[in-house]
Amino acid sequence: FSSVELTQHYLNQIKQFDNQLNSFISITEDQALTAAKAADNCRANNNAGLLTGVPIAHKDIFCTNGIKTTCGSKMLSNFIAPYESTVSQKFQDAGCVMLGKTNMDEFAMGSSNETSYFGAVKNPWQLDSTPGGSSGGSAAAVAARLAPAATGTDTGGSIRQPAALCGITGLKPTYGRVSRWGMIAFASSLDQAGPITQTAEDAALLMNIMAGFDEKDSTCANEPVPDYTATLNDSIAGLKIGLPKEYFSADLDSQIAANVEQAIKELEKLGATVKEISLANSHLALPAYYVIAPAECSSNLSRFDGVRFGHRCEDPKDLEDLYKRTRAEGFGSEVKRRILVGTYALSAGYYDAYYIKAQKLRRLIKNDFVAAFNDVDVIVGPTTPSPAFKLGEKTNDPVAMYLSDIYTISTNLAGLPAMSIPVGFTKGLPTGMQLIGNYFAEARLLNVAHQFQ
Ligand code: GLN
Repeated sequence: FSSVELTQHYLNQIKQFDNQLNSFISITEDQALTAAKAADNCRANNNAGLLTGVPIAHKDIFCTNGIKTTCGSKMLSNFIAPYESTVSQKFQDAGCVMLGKTNMDEFAMGSSNETSYFGAVKNPWQLDSTPGGSSGGSAAAVAARLAPAATGTDTGGSIRQPAALCGITGLKPTYGRVSRWGMIAFASSLDQAGPITQTAEDAALLMNIMAGFDEKDSTCANEPVPDYTATLNDSIAGLKIGLPKEYFSADLDSQIAANVEQAIKELEKLGATVKEISLANSHLALPAYYVIAPAECSSNLSRFDGVRFGHRCEDPKDLEDLYKRTRAEGFGSEVKRRILVGTYALSAGYYDAYYIKAQKLRRLIKNDFVAAFNDVDVIVGPTTPSPAFKLGEKTNDPVAMYLSDIYTISTNLAGLPAMSIPVGFTKGLPTGMQLIGNYFAEARLLNVAHQFQ
């Protein structure tokens, strides 16, 4: 079948089902059909790559030239990006067809998609539950077959947690593996883009497009990019798996623990060996993250001042009034909470007590992983402590919400790659297993996931 037929199929799926899910903020039907026709022409002229004509959805955090890019915020609800992010440009260059921009927590701050200015996304498995966040729109769209694949971003778990809660696959690459250029910044030392797909094989195909050096992002790593599909079928006999005892504590849903243990038995049958390890500073990850991420966000979001782009308040009296009212009106409450916390942590007199201390904890957390990877190849555990929770259940309790990322946050602090793959169900809802790898070991993670799947 042609790309036009395939694209039309997914556009129809979106039209038919997305009024229930709310996973898209923008549907770019005209552009998609034009791109699909161009892809079919490339195919007819034998000028097509592997993914030419394949539809994809992008999280609405990636700037797309001439197309609304909202980042889930009122602040950018009418913002038409004047340039293309490196990630979305690479997919365009590969001939992929963008179906639209997916819903997300405002500025990627959240774990349930409920902070979006465009309303919450529903979990396709249970419509009164959250798909997770912040890439919840991408995860729900892929899980519900409204898109074959999507992009996401992960600052503290935003690819892996929604992938787990929606029963699909999500990979957060090593910090710097994928360019952040044109990806609206939340916390620049933690943010990383990655694929959200049905399978590890699809994630490998997307990584082949996304990964690589970009001189426009000074933190992008100048490391060679392997063919991520080439090693998918390698044997995992002899693979050394570490199980961090801190990840299997009493707070973990017992059925999720059982599903992960069952999956580990399968990996053992494939020849892997398992040993218990300790990531002794794991309990410091959440407090360190909730100082560092808000500090960086308070700095990054200072650009939204009503002067150059985005929302601007009516009839400002003076410059200060413009700043104050624009920001009061344009940001939602979770974003304001983070800006306040972050500004406080960075202020003179508190910087040493909070920000510097959090950075020291970050180093301890990283050192635990470095030591562990002297002994094991891959670290395995649950992705989330519980399955999808009900919409509204945690909206009035930010700390309960923050705990959803208890197992995912430390890898962002360490800059390591990690992925979530589906491993069974609890109470009718899917659950995820997390695989954490050493720096730039994405191919290894994808290989293990593919052998398991
Ligand atoms: N849920 C975490 C937060 O709210 C992580 C978000 C993310 O990874 N973008 O900050």
